[in-house]
Amino acid sequence: MRFSIDIDTVKGFLDAEEGAALYRAALAAAPLGPLLEIGSYCGKSAVYIGTAARDAGSLLFTVDHHRGSEEMQPGWEHHDPATWDARAGAMESLPFLRDTLRRAGLDEYVVPIVGRSTTIARYWRTPLGFLFIDGGHAMTEAEADYRGWTPHIVVGGTLAIHDVFPDPKDGGRPPFEIYKTALTSRNFIETGAVKSLRLLRRMA
Ligand code: SAH
Ligand code: MG
Repeated sequence: MRFSIDIDTVKGFLDAEEGAALYRAALAAAPLGPLLEIGSYCGKSAVYIGTAARDAGSLLFTVDHHRGSEEMQPGWEHHDPATWDARAGAMESLPFLRDTLRRAGLDEYVVPIVGRSTTIARYWRTPLGFLFIDGGHAMTEAEADYRGWTPHIVVGGTLAIHDVFPDPKDGGRPPFEIYKTALTSRNFIETGAVKSLRLLRRMA
């Protein structure tokens, strides 16, 4: 896994070991179809998955409305004042994503899609080899991402979910809930776990 950017200069919430696991899983799944992530923010995970797309001759689509999740709004624990757009009176992370992708040399391999994930899911038709869910952490949003996007994963393809915390005192429940839903559906089996990242394979 080689990229031409110092990953520590990219704002974000992904740990380096989780990133390396995402890279390996995305590289392995890439022959099955293009890659897609929900939750670009400033592009930290997109560097890892986008590098896999580059190395495999594939493509990563990265979806975000760039207005931030609830916990990233002013006054909340994950707010970064640098992402506040005073003119919009709202958060704006798209310029940071663009800067990250340019510096990483990944503009040809990562396609940003700006909008609400449920809106885009409604019109999405392309089968995916790899899906990474790291978007809204409210139950309605996590569930909508699960329902709207996982049917596009091909059999043999990979579903990756971030911020899965089996113990409620470590973090919010919704990503854990959709991870449980995936396993109890019997359509997925777990193939890996690194910190709060879970990797699943579509079996049916
Ligand atoms: N993967 C990123 C972190 C993503 S943070 C990294 O590696 O750093 C979660 C992101 O999901 C935020 O940028 C937020 O704007 C986006 N988001 C939350 N709900 C969304 C929704 N319903 N549609 C699109 N994007 C959403
Ligand atoms: Mg996350």
